[in-house]
Amino acid sequence: MGTTSFTKKTLGLETVEPAVTPPSVTNNTTFAKKPKLAQAKSKKREIPEGLWTKCPSCSSMVFDKELDENLKVCPHCQHHFPIGARQRICSLIETAGFQERDADLQSVDILNFTGVSSYTSKLQEYQRTTGLKDAVITGTAQLGEFQTALGVMDFSFLGGSMGSVVGEKLARLIEHATANRLPLIIISTSGGARMYEGMFSLMQMAKTCAALAYHAKARLPFLSVLTHPTMAGVMASFASVGDLILAEPGAMIGFAGPRVIKDTTQAELPPGFQTAEFLLDHGLIDSVVPRKEMKSRLIEYLKFLAPVPKAPPSSNGTP
Ligand SMILES: [Zn+2]
Repeated sequence: MGTTSFTKKTLGLETVEPAVTPPSVTNNTTFAKKPKLAQAKSKKREIPEGLWTKCPSCSSMVFDKELDENLKVCPHCQHHFPIGARQRICSLIETAGFQERDADLQSVDILNFTGVSSYTSKLQEYQRTTGLKDAVITGTAQLGEFQTALGVMDFSFLGGSMGSVVGEKLARLIEHATANRLPLIIISTSGGARMYEGMFSLMQMAKTCAALAYHAKARLPFLSVLTHPTMAGVMASFASVGDLILAEPGAMIGFAGPRVIKDTTQAELPPGFQTAEFLLDHGLIDSVVPRKEMKSRLIEYLKFLAPVPKAPPSSNGTP
């Protein structure tokens, strides 16, 4: 009798029907066979994480390795994914040709700012997860035939926000470029000024632009490259005062976000508002340059604008 009731129960479970026969209180075998149910559940095939990325533009699945080799550009629709500062420097500069400057500058919590968590703990968290000290890397490098001052921002560090360290590193880079008669390239990506530092972050707008004014006065070129997104305090300061302003395709560029503008003006915004392509049409930027062409295009522009590199010492007597 006990065996019959067990068989009925198993059949009921396999066909996903409720057990018809209540378990016999005196029969122990009913419980002994139960684990079979758990085995049937775990037959789902799982895709390992971190191998594929879904393109937000064309929805195709892209193999991560292929995406990395393609400079984080979707091979199907040319959507430009965010790229870290170090990876971007590698895409522009010959291996080991980058000499980083002020690598150890770190932000301090001058206001003792505490929101959901303290500014100090935020800084520590982002330093740990990104391997960066702050949201910009600066240095000098050989780009084509030109020794160049290069600053590259990284959105993954606190939204690429500009605090005292970002401003100071950029200002020092610009001053170094002026003193050594180097062309300057800054690749921006930022949500704006770093509000954890209050007014100190806003002061960086004036500081970077003042340094750039001396750089311009020395008749040296500054190429500003805007990548997705470049907004607010960064766009309202150094990023928008380049001799040439370039942008990556599809990059969101502006001061206030579209929702704020729409609410303030009560007007319907035109399609593509605040994209690189829209701003090219309206004259704010000079060219939209795909990431894979960026290096060759920058070298091309430097040929027109940069001071002629010093010629190697030739035979004496020539003026
Ligand atoms: Zn795509």
